[in-house]
Amino acid sequence: MTDWQNQLKNAFSSPEYLSQHLDCNPTEIAAVSSRYPLRITPYYLELIKQVGSPLFRQAIPDLQELDDPLGMLDPLAEESLSPVPHLVHRYPDRALFLVSSQCAMYCRFCTRKRKVGKKSMQVSQKSIAAGIQYLKNTPQIREVLISGGDPFLLSDKALEDILQQIKKIQHIKVIRIGSRTPCTLPMRITPELVNMLKKYHPLYINTHFNHPAEITPEAEQACALLADAGIPLGCQTVLLKGINDSVAVLQELLYRLLEVRVRPYYLMQADLTEGTAHFRTDVTTGLALMRGLIGRVSGMAIPTYILDAPGGKGKIPLTPDYILSHQESSLDFISYEGIPCSYPFL
Ligand SMILES: *Cc1c(COP(=O)(O)O)cnc(C)c1O
Ligand code: SF4
Repeated sequence: MTDWQNQLKNAFSSPEYLSQHLDCNPTEIAAVSSRYPLRITPYYLELIKQVGSPLFRQAIPDLQELDDPLGMLDPLAEESLSPVPHLVHRYPDRALFLVSSQCAMYCRFCTRKRKVGKKSMQVSQKSIAAGIQYLKNTPQIREVLISGGDPFLLSDKALEDILQQIKKIQHIKVIRIGSRTPCTLPMRITPELVNMLKKYHPLYINTHFNHPAEITPEAEQACALLADAGIPLGCQTVLLKGINDSVAVLQELLYRLLEVRVRPYYLMQADLTEGTAHFRTDVTTGLALMRGLIGRVSGMAIPTYILDAPGGKGKIPLTPDYILSHQESSLDFISYEGIPCSYPFL
């Protein structure tokens, strides 16, 4: 058995087993995990270190998940935007194809916590075949985003089978994979996996780190293997209250991502997902954080702050407002340091 398979075999998914290794209350954990699944790799548990830490809060079930009367099961209306099960077609030129119901770790703030890791999410040969058929029949789709769950929880062979079928579709020019394994199960990124992936260029991977403590030597090695195979790497970070909602933490995360050749892509405002209210910051906080970063931190490290509109209306960028007034003769604005400036229209 490989190292990553061992990690999954020994993953913590029972409250009792977890409480033998971490100071937590198994009864409370069980109350939450009977509703929203629990899984933590031994690798990630090792990083958690102390109760209540930013990594602890991402991974360990919390009773607050059961106390969210205003949350929505499917805030992005993914189910109604799915022409076939587990394929979401919201934008004209790209589609989101969910090929795995499993993740190495079940993040407590997951937008898809209504289904990811649950028995009700049935990804099967049949659903994958129906997704491929839809992609074949829909020529305006030029990019497929393979996600889940986590596509890298599939075997190399099962994933390659899907990539091969997508590659054969003439109108699909670009493949993007979303995976959190470089963060939660970095040993999954093996030379064999990478050698397989690089046959399917242009292939992009967006990963998901939320805190600088997640960028360990192992994670760095995983990113290096992918980057050395010519796979451009991006990062979708979720803005999380008490975890990364400070300029200092975000700045360090963004700098570290650039160092490991991951280009920050999105900073996502938390969705209105049921069971995640305790993680949500307000938009004012997010905008202030962006203002604290823009100009002070390398432009390459700056992600776009994104709000995914409830009801499946799509993502919109949120940008701090630098414009003071837009006159006939000039644009008046403030600099990143708050200094008033003007750009005359000559
Ligand atoms: C986020 C998302 C995408 C990708 O959007 P980009 O802005 O291209 O990253 C595509 N489809 C769905 C359904 C999505 O939620
Ligand atoms: S890795 Fe992504 S899909 Fe899986 S539980 Fe975490 S946020 Fe959800």
